[in-house]
Amino acid sequence: MVVGCRWGDEGKGKIVDVLAEEAHVVARYQGGANAGHTVHVGDDQFVLHQIPSGILHADKRCLLGNGVVLDVLDFFEEYDDLAEWGIDLDDRVGVSQRAHLLMPYHRALDHALENQAKQKIGTTGRGIGPAYEEKAGRRGLRVADLANAERVQGLVEAGVERARERIESMGGDCDDGLDGAVESALAAGERLRGLATDTGLEIMQALQGGKRVLLEGAQGTALDLDHGTYPFVTSSNTTAGGAATGSGIGPTAIDTVIGVVKAYTTRVGNGPLPTAFDEAMDEKVRALGGEFGATTGRPRRCGWFDAVLSRLAARVNGLTGLAVTKLDVLDTLPEVCIATSYRTPDGLVEEFPADTWQLGSVEPVYETLPGWQESTEGARSLGDLPAAARRYLDRIEEVTGTPVQMVSVGTRRSQIIRV
Ligand code: GDP
Repeated sequence: MVVGCRWGDEGKGKIVDVLAEEAHVVARYQGGANAGHTVHVGDDQFVLHQIPSGILHADKRCLLGNGVVLDVLDFFEEYDDLAEWGIDLDDRVGVSQRAHLLMPYHRALDHALENQAKQKIGTTGRGIGPAYEEKAGRRGLRVADLANAERVQGLVEAGVERARERIESMGGDCDDGLDGAVESALAAGERLRGLATDTGLEIMQALQGGKRVLLEGAQGTALDLDHGTYPFVTSSNTTAGGAATGSGIGPTAIDTVIGVVKAYTTRVGNGPLPTAFDEAMDEKVRALGGEFGATTGRPRRCGWFDAVLSRLAARVNGLTGLAVTKLDVLDTLPEVCIATSYRTPDGLVEEFPADTWQLGSVEPVYETLPGWQESTEGARSLGDLPAAARRYLDRIEEVTGTPVQMVSVGTRRSQIIRV
């Protein structure tokens, strides 16, 4: 499986795209249309929100597991766009019968909640939080329900009613278009029934048949509902354990967990970023790395490599290897830094603190290494990299306790080093 080690946007899309080549089945296990994976194929650029990036390789079966909250209108927009690009989708996409549907009223509620919140989370406004709330509250609408029109009607009417009440109690107004949007979503739901499957069963049968399965994480470890920077997190378990529950297989079926880290750190949305650059450096790296959100277009805040957070990611995900992306973005810098611990009022800490509010005032302790000031874009093996870049990667391995197994040095599929 592939999991993000930070706040998402680590370049998982590219890594999944590369690894999908060797897989038969690629599955998403959590999140929804709040994810945005950017994949470059030839001169084309695709931003995939819900369908696994494996779809861009012919013949891969792509699944959305029970752990996702599926925005059915968005889903078919993406599906039809892919078809229009000439991608053969026949029998290639499956959606868990146990997945919950994200409905237009979840989106409306998300906007209302975020607008009135004193402490904004910085959500993507896609309705993810409210959809998971309904799931945990045992009021959600699942793909399996779509076969029963009466049940659907009951669940949807109650859902709309609850959303209206909550929005109005916050002084908001329910959008006039809501009823129409709900109708469209239900029509799309009919279409979805043809794709319904038991993802856990399919994955286990694939594994038993000697096939390779790739589980694709969205967002990242620091956005995990339990292990991330709560409350500035997403509403699902993004970490490796979530891959088992969210796809319907046992944890022992997962034998390889690749954690994706950028060679530096970025964060979109609200909440602390301990290793944040100063303003000038922030702007420089944002421009070099094109750091704008794939889903919302928001500028991402940038900072140095954070080994404290990476160690948390290594531990809670049980990482077997790291994929370091965007090494090329640092090519022109005279020096590069790694935060190895945080200075806090209570002394030095080497493990990521649970108290998110404390995180806002920690002072990272940096180790400075020489930059390489040479292009890495053409490197296809570690030996092709400048010595200083190799040293940087060696140091990342040491401070995270995890072997670097892949290094990405550009947006193209071919710009990858396998170790
Ligand atoms: P994801 O959500 O984790 O897949 O990350 P995004 O897709 O939001 O962001 C990754 C962005 O970085 C995309 O535009 C990728 O094409 C790009 N990218 C991925 N790997 C590399 C790399 O090694 N170098 C450069 N320059 N860009 C990369």
